[in-house]
Amino acid sequence: MSATTHGAVRRDLVLVLGGIALTSAGHYFTPPQFLLWHGIFQRLYYLPIVYAAISFGWKGGLTAAVLAGMLYIPHIVMTWAPMPHFAMGQYAEIVMFLAVGTLTGILADRERRRRVELQATAQRLGQVYQELQTTFEQVKRADRLSGIGQLAAGLAHEIRNPLASIDGAAEVLEAGAEAELRQETLSIIRKECARLNRLLTNLLDFARPRRPEWREVGVVEVLDSVVELVSHSAGKNVRFRREAAPDLPLLLCDREQIAQVILNLTINAAQAMPEGGEVVLSARTSADVLLVQVKDEGHGIAPEDLDKIFDPFFTTKDTGTGLGLSVVHQIVGQHGGSVTAERNPDRGMTFSLYFPRADTGAA
Ligand code: ADP
Repeated sequence: MSATTHGAVRRDLVLVLGGIALTSAGHYFTPPQFLLWHGIFQRLYYLPIVYAAISFGWKGGLTAAVLAGMLYIPHIVMTWAPMPHFAMGQYAEIVMFLAVGTLTGILADRERRRRVELQATAQRLGQVYQELQTTFEQVKRADRLSGIGQLAAGLAHEIRNPLASIDGAAEVLEAGAEAELRQETLSIIRKECARLNRLLTNLLDFARPRRPEWREVGVVEVLDSVVELVSHSAGKNVRFRREAAPDLPLLLCDREQIAQVILNLTINAAQAMPEGGEVVLSARTSADVLLVQVKDEGHGIAPEDLDKIFDPFFTTKDTGTGLGLSVVHQIVGQHGGSVTAERNPDRGMTFSLYFPRADTGAA
């Protein structure tokens, strides 16, 4: 028993015994003619009895009742013997003391047991919560580690291919190739270096995205600048068309990043059409989104690949890095928007970017 419990028990004992003693004293020192007072003292015994029952259980309640009865009986015998009718009522009250003390104690005991059970349940629940929290942290960590592992594996794969080409080319040069072959080999080395460089730039964009510099930007102007840029490098038979609804609201965004997103989608669209076709870049609005789409007439994406295209390093191209769409996904997400890819009913793909509108307060 702890010191505090000890102190509490002593205090309860003093209250019970003091209550019974004071009530008995009230009986003994009050002359018989003050009947009203005797009636009050008689019922006053219930207070220490009930208190004892609540504090010490049924044994405490019964003991307090017996003690009260033992102190009360001599007073009944001495004072009320000439009035047997009245005395009988008081003996009956003593029986009531015993019943109330025991019953209240039984109820208090039951309550106490329930409280202990509840405390144990709460403690168990607390432990389960702690265990859940730990498991959750472990799962989160494992998930992060597996993400890093995937990234590293993809990166290793992407670096190994150009390295193998460069190594092969070096071997050819070492063996002393003729001028023409040497030129060809050198151009392979340069191409593979460019590929590694592109990979690293994309990887840095993806791994260390810079914070957007927010400005209100006209999307049409961004679409036009992308069209201007790609039309020089795309195949001759690839055409670009820009469509825009009138009165488009300004987009709250980082201009450079959004231009990069649209550029990545447009380059992919052009690369998907080796035989040529049309790429349409369009912008329109609905109640609270600004929708930008890049639609092509290329070979499209196989349905089984659709849910992999935004994964880092997923590529079907010989010299692809597989990071273009990951960067798109990341930047659009940073802008509070979303990106979807859909196969067109006839041919090709449509990539849609949904941005919250700044003017309606959705951004
Ligand atoms: P990369 O272009 O380096 O391969 P991306 O992340 O940009 O990397 O694209 C991932 C893959 O998604 C591409 O290799 C290609 O298979 C597919 N893809 C993306 N855009 C298109 C498109 N417009 N049409 C057909 N396939 C596409």
